[in-house]
Amino acid sequence: MDEKNFIELEECPCCRGGGMLIHEGGWSVQVECMICGAHTVYLEYDNEEQKAEAERGVARLWNIGKVIKQDPGE
Ligand SMILES: [Zn+2]
Repeated sequence: MDEKNFIELEECPCCRGGGMLIHEGGWSVQVECMICGAHTVYLEYDNEEQKAEAERGVARLWNIGKVIKQDPGE
């Protein structure tokens, strides 16, 4: 495992659940909570370098609590 690419994710700022890096369509990534569905914005990438950058970007947003809460509409 390449330590340089290791992404550390804090607990979910909403429910303390586990966050996960989710890649969409091979061109964007976000962090989403597996429990409550809170998520960061998507960051897009075009190549491997940008991909690593995007992963770090969304991880950082997640870790500082900049997430969008899923509103179930209740
Ligand atoms: Zn959560």
